[in-house]
Amino acid sequence: MSQDALQSRIARLERIIEISRSINSTLNLPRLLHQILAAAQELTHTEACSIILRDRKSGVLRFEATIGARSQEVRSLVVPLDGSIAGWVVQNNRPVVVHNVRNDPRFYRKVDQEVGFETRSILAVPLSVRGKPIGVLEVLNKEGGERFTEEDVETLMALADQAAVAIENAVLFQQSDLVADLVHEMRTPLTSIIGYARMIQRDDVSEDDRKSFARTIEREAARLSRMASDFLELARLESGRAFPVREEVSLKSLAAEAIALLRPQAEAKQIALIEEVPDDLPTLLGDPQRLHQVLVNLVGNGVKYCRPGDRVTIGARVEGDEVLVYVSDTGPGIPPSAQEHLFERFYRLPRTEEDVEGTGLGLAITRRIVEAHGGRIWVKSDVGKGTTFYLTLPLRREAGPSSSSRG
Ligand code: ADP
Repeated sequence: MSQDALQSRIARLERIIEISRSINSTLNLPRLLHQILAAAQELTHTEACSIILRDRKSGVLRFEATIGARSQEVRSLVVPLDGSIAGWVVQNNRPVVVHNVRNDPRFYRKVDQEVGFETRSILAVPLSVRGKPIGVLEVLNKEGGERFTEEDVETLMALADQAAVAIENAVLFQQSDLVADLVHEMRTPLTSIIGYARMIQRDDVSEDDRKSFARTIEREAARLSRMASDFLELARLESGRAFPVREEVSLKSLAAEAIALLRPQAEAKQIALIEEVPDDLPTLLGDPQRLHQVLVNLVGNGVKYCRPGDRVTIGARVEGDEVLVYVSDTGPGIPPSAQEHLFERFYRLPRTEEDVEGTGLGLAITRRIVEAHGGRIWVKSDVGKGTTFYLTLPLRREAGPSSSSRG
């Protein structure tokens, strides 16, 4: 390979890595598809490109996004599985290059006829997730009438590999109840913000009321903002795209940090915080930031839901090949009927709605993090006596049988 060819290959590869980073950070399907198309066009220097996806339920192939050709008209057009290049690619799970579509019986003419575009050549590659095609990425008509090269095929395949996973995630995300739940939860604060914003504008409202309405608006807007960030965090965890960081973690330090962070709130409410993690507790492998969040969520809930004079204790001990962590409080407790729903997203005990600020996402996030570490979480609670959250985290075992006892 010539020096120039090598340089251009490296440049393309670097660009693909850059693109893959950016496509992996969006869960918005239309935006994602557009990003992929723009990248495909840039990398292959073509006049137009399209993404055709296979409907999960019906198996039908449908144009989902296009750039270059008249995109509006192409969208939602259905392509036959037999008698189209896209169909061939999906069925064979292999790329195809057609230098002149007029000579290829697989070419499906109807799309050109319908949108008034003239396809001359096509490079189409499968979008596959774990070896299963979910659709096709097509680029049409290389600029200047050139022929598609091996390098074009290789580049588009590399892009398609990245794109397919991102599309799959975005599609799953779109279909999940997560979004529906969020929209539902946003309604109450939004209604209240709109209502109070209207009231504030009336002439017959006293200055005191006006101030109080403004405070309500501020509080509800802050709630929406917290909901948005918690929700994003949960969505990332649920999509499995939060890459697990595995570093050596000291639970003792994490517990001390969580307590230091929550100390001011606890003192203001006259709640005692007690840390009883043994000094010699072995370290774990995990994501320190996320595990910190777990402890802050649990101790934070203790502080939020306890009354003056109550205590919140955090401790841990080794049990078999796991570490058992507990966060225990002497607070109001949680009735059995509510315990089973605690880890569901947006779930809050009925009475807490008015009394204590919250989004109902903390425990859902906590559970996801614990499970991503290979652990479990559960609760024991007695109304009037208090609540204990337990979680386990797998203990890291030494690689060799005697590596730690030598010496
Ligand atoms: P949030 O605190 O934002 O409402 P969470 O998911 O952290 O959301 O908790 C869900 C619900 O569980 C809370 O609204 C509260 O009703 C209840 N809860 C959580 N921790 C405790 C606790 N330590 N004592 C009593 N109730 C609790």
